[in-house]
Amino acid sequence: MDRVKVFVRRHALWIGIVAVAIPLAAHLWLQYESLRKLQATLPVSRRAFMRQYLSGVLNQTMMAFEERVDVVLNVPAGAFRYRFPDREHISEDQFDIRRVFDWPAIANHFRENQFRGARLFFVSAVSGPKEPTFAVVRFYDPVSCSFAYFPTEQERGAAHAASASWTAFTMVFTHPNSLQLTVDERDPKNRAIVKPIVDENSRVLGVAGMFVDENYFLQEALATEIGRTLPQKFPEDFRDAVIAVFDRDRRVLFANQPFEGAPFDVNWPIPFLFKDRYISMKMRTMTEEQYSRRYFIENLTFSILTALVLLGGIALTLRAASRAMKLSQMKAEFVSNVSHELRTPLASIRVFGEFLKLGRVRDREKIHEYGEYIETESRRLTQLINNILDFSKIESGQKTYKFEPARIEQVVRDTLRTFEIAFEQNGFTIRLEASEQALPEVVIDTDAIGQAFINLLDNAVKYSGESKEIVVKLGVEGEFVAIAVRDRGVGIAREEIGKVFDKFYRVGNNLVHDVKGSGLGLSIVKHIIEAHRGKVMVESEPGRGSTFIILLPLGEPPQSAARPGRLKAQLQTYSEEMS
Ligand code: ADP
Repeated sequence: MDRVKVFVRRHALWIGIVAVAIPLAAHLWLQYESLRKLQATLPVSRRAFMRQYLSGVLNQTMMAFEERVDVVLNVPAGAFRYRFPDREHISEDQFDIRRVFDWPAIANHFRENQFRGARLFFVSAVSGPKEPTFAVVRFYDPVSCSFAYFPTEQERGAAHAASASWTAFTMVFTHPNSLQLTVDERDPKNRAIVKPIVDENSRVLGVAGMFVDENYFLQEALATEIGRTLPQKFPEDFRDAVIAVFDRDRRVLFANQPFEGAPFDVNWPIPFLFKDRYISMKMRTMTEEQYSRRYFIENLTFSILTALVLLGGIALTLRAASRAMKLSQMKAEFVSNVSHELRTPLASIRVFGEFLKLGRVRDREKIHEYGEYIETESRRLTQLINNILDFSKIESGQKTYKFEPARIEQVVRDTLRTFEIAFEQNGFTIRLEASEQALPEVVIDTDAIGQAFINLLDNAVKYSGESKEIVVKLGVEGEFVAIAVRDRGVGIAREEIGKVFDKFYRVGNNLVHDVKGSGLGLSIVKHIIEAHRGKVMVESEPGRGSTFIILLPLGEPPQSAARPGRLKAQLQTYSEEMS
């Protein structure tokens, strides 16, 4: 059970990613499948939608047209003089052709009800010497506003044909059940709409009719309705939509925009008034199959991208979580390490202090030795506490620096002198190599640089192992003053080098070393040196030792941070020189 727990904790990141990736992959697969099905059915449903749209547009246009025609043809019954006779008493003048229509009343009606959809109006009624046996038709020209119009044979024929079905009712003295407008399209050039004009008993007195202006119907009524409804029904691609009306020979009678190429996706017969016409629709740039393919690709790409972003986000979150876990683990180790670091020297100080206090030790040399020991240990404690305090200031952003011109050589020598005895006690020899000429002054915070240098020296001592020789080298490298600390100790593995400057990080494998520490020293060094716009670097080889190099800019601390590429080259020459 514990093994499982440890495994889960160690591989939390990968387990998390796999746990998310599997359902995500399943989701993607399902998405792919449904998109594929959609790709197959989309053209069918889009065509059905287009068909529905076209029929809706036609219905709407027709209805509006019909409503208007109904008003326009609603000639008052009084304009037709014919009276249904009592069969016994038919008088001559009731069939007098001149007296059948009230001309001014009809003209007045058409003048008042102008309609651009009508090319020509006509009225029709019946007459006959004894009985109503023949029909008469008179034309009214809406352009000249008069009955002075000479129709062609075709026009006359079409008007008679369209009216005949209604006038027949007069001739046979019966009345129709429905009084709706009727359409006669037998002559496509003269498509007629007629309306029966009836008396109060629904008996047909005559007929009012008109020839449809097809141009108006297509270019204005239909075009307006398409312009109004297309953007609502096809909000994404209405600019692309081509709607055209064809005759039986596929001649174009109307198109809402120029088009060419692929055949139309939908062809729909016009039901009323233009039965010999077709209305058709397609998208200008793409066929429905291409459209659905694009839809498929777009959606799939979007899904894949979303999945990737999701996966990336989860990986980042898990990484942050695993880092946080690692950090908390490192903090716990830090507390235990620091406690150990504090407890051991404190215990020795107490014991040696007690010896001295009780006066048990009389030998002057011993007293001197104990005193030195106490001094060294308390110095180490001070350094540890300084590091912890520095770290807490750095973390809370309160660490400040007091920059002033100083000589690096002086800072290094002072520090070495302070720790000389401690080094000697532990059998270390520290060699300082500095060029003959004095190094130029640098603007630094001497305490902070001293602290950084101590940390490097302390590490060199701690991780020296058997070898007890440490070399400190000072010099000028281009625009920098360099302090290098080299030891011949355990060294650092290549993959660890990038991490040793992280806070709390320790190369914590007992096979490498069992030296206690806080894991703060190098992170503080890095912070201090970067605050000086300098750089700290390390060259190391396991088993052969390490060289830590601090590079500090000459003169005023430069405005921008030193360029790492260049520093890297300098570091290389420097460490080559040292070894
Ligand atoms: P610590 O208190 O552990 O020394 P540091 O931040 O000073 O913390 O160092 C981090 C880690 O870097 C150390 O735990 C050690 O493994 C490695 N390290 C630092 N200096 C040296 C060195 N001179 N030689 C070998 N390893 C070193």
